[in-house]
Amino acid sequence: MAPGFEGAWHAPTMGPMVSSFDICIRGAGIVGRTLALHLAAHRLRVALVASEAGDTRIAASPDVRAYALNHQSRALLDGVRCWPDGHDATPVLHMAVTSDDGAQVHFDAHALGVEALNWIVDVPVLEQQLAQAVQFQPLITTVQTPQPAALTVVCEGRFSRTRDDLHVDMDLVRYRHHAIAARVHAETPHMQVARQWFHQDGIVALLPLGGARGQGYALVWSTSAERASDLALASEDDFCDALASVTHPTVGTLRLSGARARWPLQHGVARHWSGVFRADRGQGAWVLAGDAAHQVHPLAGQGLNLGLGDVAELVRQLTHRDYWRPVNDMRLLRRYERARKTEFAWIGGSGDALQLLFSHPGAPVQAARSWGMRGFDRTAPLKSWVARQAMGQ
Ligand SMILES: Cc1cc2nc3c(=O)[nH]c(=O)nc-3n(C[C@H](O)[C@H](O)[C@H](O)COP(=O)(O)OP(=O)(O)OC[C@H]3O[C@@H](n4cnc5c(N)ncnc54)[C@H](O)[C@@H]3O)c2cc1C
Repeated sequence: MAPGFEGAWHAPTMGPMVSSFDICIRGAGIVGRTLALHLAAHRLRVALVASEAGDTRIAASPDVRAYALNHQSRALLDGVRCWPDGHDATPVLHMAVTSDDGAQVHFDAHALGVEALNWIVDVPVLEQQLAQAVQFQPLITTVQTPQPAALTVVCEGRFSRTRDDLHVDMDLVRYRHHAIAARVHAETPHMQVARQWFHQDGIVALLPLGGARGQGYALVWSTSAERASDLALASEDDFCDALASVTHPTVGTLRLSGARARWPLQHGVARHWSGVFRADRGQGAWVLAGDAAHQVHPLAGQGLNLGLGDVAELVRQLTHRDYWRPVNDMRLLRRYERARKTEFAWIGGSGDALQLLFSHPGAPVQAARSWGMRGFDRTAPLKSWVARQAMGQ
């Protein structure tokens, strides 16, 4: 057992604790704030620990990303009235995935009988809506330092300090790829089509922005660390030329409409997601959620969807518990851990496998994957099943 925690899994381990809060959430990102709002809506008293870095990032340098969020994430954010309106959450009606030799897979909302495959949500807008909702919720107190509570939920993102303090080991694979994200503008409307290219120069995704008639895209380009560094420093013209070499002629001329940002990419999962604080390190029980528990390659756009899935499951366990069980009952927390690890193994594992398959440069592998893509595109039941998993249905 790791040295940061102790305690048997089967027992309700702690008696009542004298504290102003039932739950302390460390980290006020999208996962932390959404969790705080849902727990407060169920009359639980929440301390939300917001680091200064987290707060200033919103004001000083807005995130250039937009997230592809699925039906389950939408329902969760709708539940706390934080789903952005049409302009800032663009429904994707069609998705086209193209391999380097022209093989294609298409997904279509109409054919699947859904209103949208997913929605492309502007990140700063969503962060602002959640921040405002938190301010108006009297059962949430925003604090600068961790507070005593029966249960601490660690939502500090991939570099979580609390997770390190607890000596929770990670199973980690650092990809050779980095992601470049930026906003780009096209000459013609995107028609609510999301596009992804698996190319020798990396994986390029264009996610439609600005509502049904928009002409903007959120670009995510994952490529080798060296290439990403060159692309980040290239002049705007050179950057757009490099992008056109992948996206032309499917979409017309693209131009940059803002700053470029870069992220190193990794696949990681914490070995333990729940436990009890050692007496000298804190109070009560703890669980991990969001990127503090797991990280995936952005090619499938599932990282935050998984984090919001954690929120949904934890809220379900805590609010449907027997009346005599405290919120730090390890039986509930282990149930949460098991359910979420299972989901992560499937979603995170598929993304990792796709990343490996498409980053392999060999000609035989390239031919096999194009053959596989063509076959997959023709196999309607399998395609529909995969699409429904990704949509969170
Ligand atoms: C290029 C790129 C594109 C992506 N696209 C998608 C997509 O399309 N769809 C999708 O679902 N996911 C996507 N993701 C994944 C997504 O960004 C993450 O999964 C998501 O941001 C995780 O949210 P979080 O709240 O868990 O962590 P974070 O967003 O990292 O938030 C953690 C918060 O905790 C704060 N914090 C850290 N340490 C402390 C501390 N000690 N005390 C208090 N606060 C602390 C931080 O300041 C921050 O505010 C993408 C990721 C990348 C890199």
